[in-house]
Amino acid sequence: MKIRENIAISTLTTMRLGGNARYVIDIESEEDVPAAYAFADEHELPIYILGSGSNIIGRDKGFNGIILVNKIRGMGIETEESEGCIELYSYSGELLDDFVRYSTRLGFSGIEALSAIPGTVGAAPVQNVGAYGQDISQTIVSVRAYDNLFEDFVEIPMVDMDLSYRHSIFNSGKDVGRYFITKVVVSLKRGELKPPFYNSLQKYLDDNDITEYSPETIRQAVRAVREGKLPDPAEIASSGSFFKNVYLTSDIDIKTAEAKGIPVWDGGKIPSGWLVENAGLKGQTFHGMRVWDKAALVLVNESAHSYADLAAAREEIIKQVQAKYGYTLEQEPMELGE
Ligand SMILES: Cc1cc2nc3c(=O)[nH]c(=O)nc-3n(C[C@H](O)[C@H](O)[C@H](O)COP(=O)(O)OP(=O)(O)OC[C@H]3O[C@@H](n4cnc5c(N)ncnc54)[C@H](O)[C@@H]3O)c2cc1C
Repeated sequence: MKIRENIAISTLTTMRLGGNARYVIDIESEEDVPAAYAFADEHELPIYILGSGSNIIGRDKGFNGIILVNKIRGMGIETEESEGCIELYSYSGELLDDFVRYSTRLGFSGIEALSAIPGTVGAAPVQNVGAYGQDISQTIVSVRAYDNLFEDFVEIPMVDMDLSYRHSIFNSGKDVGRYFITKVVVSLKRGELKPPFYNSLQKYLDDNDITEYSPETIRQAVRAVREGKLPDPAEIASSGSFFKNVYLTSDIDIKTAEAKGIPVWDGGKIPSGWLVENAGLKGQTFHGMRVWDKAALVLVNESAHSYADLAAAREEIIKQVQAKYGYTLEQEPMELGE
């Protein structure tokens, strides 16, 4: 277990903001997890679990606690193929994209649309990651996790995770922070996929005359579509989608939105990117934070000096969208520190 002291959160997160964390511990095996919690008890400090930091924004005063950086590696077959179905596992510190590649190269479908989402496998169930019509709730079977309340490893089946749009027991409610996910199992199917695919993906397939819909060709198409519009976190600081989509639940609200010319997809979803773009904010920079030119739902850190700059930019964007459309956007990435 490698323990480091006074490490800037900005160096551990893709938005590259935030003050120092008191300790950072690299977790390289399941055995390291209870040992790290024991270290935290000994020092009476709180713990925060981090994967690749692609959905976390550090605050300016830092974190007087211990960040556990998940580096538990390994993946393979959990249950052999039977009647075209297979269960694959990945330890949680693997990159999600590597796990997707492993699955599509074996010829199985179910997570191919999650290709190129930054971050670790362990974080995928936390906000039920999703893209291009898939999310992890559709294929996840269970996770293995360290339960720091009962100080033991447990299996959590999908039904107990309460997965919905950007939501799970791991990021909402009384069990936030209780589990360190160490392993994820998904159930996948062999065979060709059936069109139609998600709009922008289908357009790419049509434009490029791709008619073979294997998991691997769909993976490559998703990667190409994403590359064309999303910033690469290795080069440009961002946390991906900055605002959650707006979900309308009543027919009256849906009709009111449509009457104003606002697109409502899938029976209730207003894309936050559409609201930001049509409020005229795409390509604009506020306090060093730029509304990404190719996808208005992404905020990139061009030259912000601090979390305070980001907070000021966020308030400005929320205010302008609220003034034009009457919806209050909510931030998607979580925050760490004070
Ligand atoms: C350019 C870009 C594009 C993106 N596109 C998408 C997209 O298309 N769809 C999408 O859903 N998201 C997207 N994201 C957001 C991000 O990639 C996902 O949320 C991803 O799952 C975060 O993984 P991570 O390892 O970086 O998690 P982190 O940001 O490190 O952590 C996220 C949360 O999960 C918790 N956590 C992490 N690991 C564990 C664990 N092992 N056990 C328990 N809790 C844990 C953390 O405490 C934190 O609350 C994008 C981000 C970027 C920068």
